[in-house]
Amino acid sequence: MSVTTVRAYAAPAPKAPLEPTDVPRRPLGPNDVLIEIRYSGICHSDIHQVRDEWGRGTYPMVPGHEIVGVITEIGAEVTRHAVGDLAGVGCFVDSCRECEACLAGLDQYCRNGVATYNSTGRDGEPTYGGYSTHIVVDADHALRVPAGLDLAAAAPLLCAGITLYSPLRHWNAGPGKKVAIVGLGGLGHVGVKLARAMGAEVTVLSQTDRKKDDAARLGADHFRATADGTVFKDLRGTFDLILNTVSAPVDVNAYLGLLKINGTLVALGLPPEPLPVNMGALVGGRKSLAGSMIGGIAETQEMLDFCAEHGVVSDIELIAADYINEAYERVMASDVRYRFVIDTATITA
Ligand code: NAP
Ligand code: ZN
Ligand code: ZN
Repeated sequence: MSVTTVRAYAAPAPKAPLEPTDVPRRPLGPNDVLIEIRYSGICHSDIHQVRDEWGRGTYPMVPGHEIVGVITEIGAEVTRHAVGDLAGVGCFVDSCRECEACLAGLDQYCRNGVATYNSTGRDGEPTYGGYSTHIVVDADHALRVPAGLDLAAAAPLLCAGITLYSPLRHWNAGPGKKVAIVGLGGLGHVGVKLARAMGAEVTVLSQTDRKKDDAARLGADHFRATADGTVFKDLRGTFDLILNTVSAPVDVNAYLGLLKINGTLVALGLPPEPLPVNMGALVGGRKSLAGSMIGGIAETQEMLDFCAEHGVVSDIELIAADYINEAYERVMASDVRYRFVIDTATITA
């Protein structure tokens, strides 16, 4: 293995701006691959964690779990990948392969899983994410990125893509189903494209009318702004499935009112605050309030292949690494169209 220390952008302490630094990468093990990272997406979860909004943050923190690049070295036992292959890494880089979740193909819920960053690897060392030039990962947790996809625009599929694909599949989005996506940000805009590609009728629920034209361009059938509240009367009882991607607290009960009988509201956004739920809003209509977290490795591969088949990638704004802190502020202001992606070639000494 030729690399042990690599260039990265890290937050040195909670809430601190990110700055260039060096981080170690483990020596290549027999089932590891070394990936030269080309692009890394900025997910709102990066901001929650850099700002320690979920607690238990470890620093320095190198965020980034929407990683694409090229494999430049493989361990002696690796058969799934070859040098020169395009590869992706998402939100987790290891799983135990033994627990109930792993055995069910739901390895995203592994009890002993290792997150791509802000976690501890099997070697006991901290994990560092994709705002970096290289990463060493277990070969079973590296995805194959289909050649037909634009590489930079494919990066956000590794988190935003699978986070929407998995619940859309689980709750059978497709022809005849009315799906609402709440929040047209990184997750939401990929959700619109995926739900459309699956054949569902898609409505975007956004705070204001600012993104109305974009929603139509992305493939949404309908658009409503939520700020004045009239939508909650007009569209009462409309949707089979609502995916809430909002990073801040929302009125859960108001959205439950938009579901049909037997409908499901899926929590995807992860604001740190608990949200009140009226039991009556669930009981009156046999409704479900559910959650969903990314997807397993096999399902993530299925999603990438689906995206290649249907021409789905993220709308991105490609940035240099020294723009990361400003990009965070723009994400916080819902001013991202629709995912910032870091060109990791700009992470220099
Ligand atoms: P994002 O790009 O910032 O998008 C969030 C969208 O939510 C914004 O674009 C905005 O859409 C809406 N929004 C923001 N603040 C709001 C407010 N105060 N009230 C109402 N709507 C508001 O973020 P993202 O990267 O898509 O991530 C969204 C959330 O999902 C984050 O909490 C993230 O941590 C979480 N997440 C969860 C998973 C999972 O596995 N479940 C995976 C990845 C991310 P409009 O402008 O259209 O209103
Ligand atoms: Zn993410
Ligand atoms: Zn497991």
